[in-house]
Amino acid sequence: MKTGIYTDPIFLKHNTGNHPENAGRLEAINRRLAEEGLESRLLRRKPRPATQEEITTIHTVDYMRHVEEAALSGRQYLDTPDCALSTQTFDAALNAAGALIASVIDVAEGRLDNAFVACRPPGHHAEQAKAMGFCYFNNVAIAAAILTEKLGYERVLIFDFDVHHGNGTQHAFEERSDILFASIHQHPLTLYPGTGFAEERGRSEGLGYTLNVPMAPHSGDDDYLAQLENTLLPAFREFNPQFILLSAGFDAHRDDPLAMINLSTAGFGALLTHIKQLALECCDGRMVSALEGGYDYAALSACVASHLEILQADPQRGEI
Ligand SMILES: [Zn+2]
Repeated sequence: MKTGIYTDPIFLKHNTGNHPENAGRLEAINRRLAEEGLESRLLRRKPRPATQEEITTIHTVDYMRHVEEAALSGRQYLDTPDCALSTQTFDAALNAAGALIASVIDVAEGRLDNAFVACRPPGHHAEQAKAMGFCYFNNVAIAAAILTEKLGYERVLIFDFDVHHGNGTQHAFEERSDILFASIHQHPLTLYPGTGFAEERGRSEGLGYTLNVPMAPHSGDDDYLAQLENTLLPAFREFNPQFILLSAGFDAHRDDPLAMINLSTAGFGALLTHIKQLALECCDGRMVSALEGGYDYAALSACVASHLEILQADPQRGEI
């Protein structure tokens, strides 16, 4: 299949020092893709910075300017010590959101079948006017807003399998029925950010279009796949998405230092294979996946390589 990979050296320039979310993560991914010879089978794309009009589909203008001013003035962090800054953080964050926008447009217009965005900073914790959990602009939420508000999509599924709850994305869409936000994550009583209880199901128009599946610490492949097959996939099929966005965090891996879930690399692969089949059934395979967390370099790079193998596999040749 025509699988795009969006990445850029600007993503390495968001310099966070010895913070867990650092440039070494993307360097490990890039090395792994080169070693496995995957790059030659992927279509490499460069992002562009998102515009103010695009960022403000989710964030306020004042917040956008606050990120810019804080980064350029040399401040150490934004809103919380979790969100470290360097002078190029704003530029990197604009390009991360811009990469998501460019990728959904390329897939929507048929130039690509699917895509992976290897960006940083990540996005799913970013709220309308607040940086949280290593995130500044909510890349995936902005892409969903572009799909529904600019490209005319009526049903977009966001599936967030990062080990942390995607609070920012949920809050952006919890009153809407055209975007189904589903998150599987370590139970909020045991992990940051402390939201994502099963009872959080959306509000008013959006009631029933937020789906949270909290998992007990030490859950593994079988527990995740059972929830996927019994809870998530039936809801996804009923929603019948026209486009699928993945908040692809790999920090539920058993080797990850920040959480207590025990997925294997193969478990992540099985999860994605189910979602790709859903995409082929519902929406001609239209799917864009964006890097969120994942803090063990070896586990992260192995999971991303496997993820790209699965995205790129051709179902007509029986490859998945
Ligand atoms: Zn995470």
